[in-house]
Amino acid sequence: MMQEQKIFTLGLGLTPPWEVASQHLDMDKEPHELSLELAADRGSLFPCPACGKACKAHDFKTLKWRHLNFFQHHCLITASVPRVRCSEHGVKRINVPWAREGSRFTLLFEQVVLSLVREMPVAAAARIVGERDKRLWRIIQHYVQQALESLDLSELEAFGFDETASKRGHNYVTVFVDMKRSKQSVVFATPGKGKKTVKNFKAWLEEHGGNTDNVLEVVCDMSPAFLAAVKEEFGEANVTVDWFHVVQLFTRAVDDVRKQEQKENKLPKATRWAVLKGSGLTEKQVQALDELKNGDFCTTIAWRIKEKLRWIREANTPRAALWRITNFLNHARSMLTDAPELEAIRNAMKTLENHRKRILQRWTSTYTNARMEGLNSLFQAARARARGYRNDQTFITMIYMIAAPIRFIFKST
Ligand SMILES: [Zn+2]
Repeated sequence: MMQEQKIFTLGLGLTPPWEVASQHLDMDKEPHELSLELAADRGSLFPCPACGKACKAHDFKTLKWRHLNFFQHHCLITASVPRVRCSEHGVKRINVPWAREGSRFTLLFEQVVLSLVREMPVAAAARIVGERDKRLWRIIQHYVQQALESLDLSELEAFGFDETASKRGHNYVTVFVDMKRSKQSVVFATPGKGKKTVKNFKAWLEEHGGNTDNVLEVVCDMSPAFLAAVKEEFGEANVTVDWFHVVQLFTRAVDDVRKQEQKENKLPKATRWAVLKGSGLTEKQVQALDELKNGDFCTTIAWRIKEKLRWIREANTPRAALWRITNFLNHARSMLTDAPELEAIRNAMKTLENHRKRILQRWTSTYTNARMEGLNSLFQAARARARGYRNDQTFITMIYMIAAPIRFIFKST
């Protein structure tokens, strides 16, 4: 008996005065439950949680924690935890070495939860450990917040940002990336979109050792609210519009044209993805594209214009790119008709024209497209991991978990 308890004591990483006093396997419960009772000699001294001074116990209370499964059995830890009477801080409950304050789980259990949710949706991890996902979220949020406290942004010189819906069509989350980092590049995520988020980022940057004056380049899309906010908060920085956003602008415009036209006119089946996808079309989509090309559709005009963007992108110098943009706009105008369905593509062209200079910056910028483009797959992954329990906060937590330069630090005993 004594030997087994020593093994548990070692397994828990317990140090004196704590040790396993007894164990009990409850076979009536399903899954079976192993209870380990921890105890410290009543005469021991315990550190005051405020100053660390060794103090005498004042009174005891029995507390419970969920620990790692012992084989297939759930494992619970109970301990009589003292309050100490410190001459300076009065009567206070001590912190136990195997769990953090206020948690119902041991540190080891929390560590396992974090490694599971790095690989799978939180709901799946919850099923594996047999807990409600809400409780797992509380653990994850705690460690992510804690890790973010030591985020160091003193080297930040260029950032990009973009928004995404956290729930379909409702709430938005805006995400900021450090353009210099090739991996784990997310340095801030905040609920909402537009001006306020840029202001929040500036405050966050300063809280984490960053300096607004060091920021030389900002990469964003062409929304007037974003551009105004950047000018206001990061006046010294050059604004680059990412090529990815130009493509996105025209892709959305094509989709809008299609939707408008669909209301009046019957379009070939599979039109939607035929005109949205760049490559890898299915047979049906290829067929739809053929029908579109041979017919008299606004969608076809919009699609042809969008397809010609690639030609601009392939320019080798900023001068060549400028020439191609002008040429593109002239050519596109000659293809357009007055049809009201084409309004969206006309607007996209106006936007492109207005932001020419910022778009051209991307030919001189040292930062690649890939960073911003990668955000879309990050958003998808974070949505999937937060499935079933998604709100702004859980979505943001998952974005940080997957893509922020943070490390989780566990107090070791
Ligand atoms: Zn004290």
